[in-house]
Amino acid sequence: MLKVMLSLILLFLVSCGQEKSHTEIILLSGQSESNLSLYFDKMQSFESKVFYERGHEPYVGTRINGKAYWDFFGRNISTLLRLEERSISFSYPKTLSEMTELRAINKDSWTTQELISKFSELPVIKNTEALGAVNILFVGGLFKNNDGELQNGVLGIYISDTNNIVIFKDVVKEIEENQGIRVARFSEQSLLVHEVGHAMGLVENGVPAQSDHHDKEHGSHCTNQDCVMHWLNEGATDMSNYVRRLILTGDENLFGQHCLEDAAQKIRSYQ
Ligand SMILES: [Zn+2]
Ligand SMILES: [Zn+2]
Repeated sequence: MLKVMLSLILLFLVSCGQEKSHTEIILLSGQSESNLSLYFDKMQSFESKVFYERGHEPYVGTRINGKAYWDFFGRNISTLLRLEERSISFSYPKTLSEMTELRAINKDSWTTQELISKFSELPVIKNTEALGAVNILFVGGLFKNNDGELQNGVLGIYISDTNNIVIFKDVVKEIEENQGIRVARFSEQSLLVHEVGHAMGLVENGVPAQSDHHDKEHGSHCTNQDCVMHWLNEGATDMSNYVRRLILTGDENLFGQHCLEDAAQKIRSYQ
């Protein structure tokens, strides 16, 4: 029976002439309380595992300051979940050799069921009583929605009530072609942080909003334009503006105060 686990959070670009705009929709939201209590309370270690289809690998390497690009991801997730304060170890890959390469799949499109079944074939990390995990899969090809429509702008999805995220690398590469590699690298990192934010239950995706910043019209998003959980990518221009501002200001904190406070309150709620 096809359970309604097709609760996806989709980040996509809608093609409109020359202009492209990102839109994000939620078919059904929700991270389970059992997963949330693990992430915000019980876990003693946290791990991210990355799989990528050959030819569709994530951006890796180091920035001018010598830090790995993936430290951007690591630092923001660590801040959100207060991992240092909670003395929780966090491991995530920074180089391709620390990620798992999959042979070329060469699929033009992916339905939700195909993605779920792909994850079932992979040695994903499962959440346990003491280990919280997030699995990230980079693939080529485009997302096909439940109406069978090819979504030529979907960048990534979080499969609700799981700890699995998919990044559609061909769409990220379009940002590289249009905006350059630098913007594309930060966009990819921001996208990862955004999707993990949903997996962690933001905003009202399991973690209640403590202040008036829930953008109800756009599902589990934040009304703060400077927050990574904003319905930010309402256009490649906005996405690149967001990322360019980050690059310019050197501000590496992607989550705004409201979202950080929601997470902090979620942690306190277990104490
Ligand atoms: Zn979102
Ligand atoms: Zn926010």
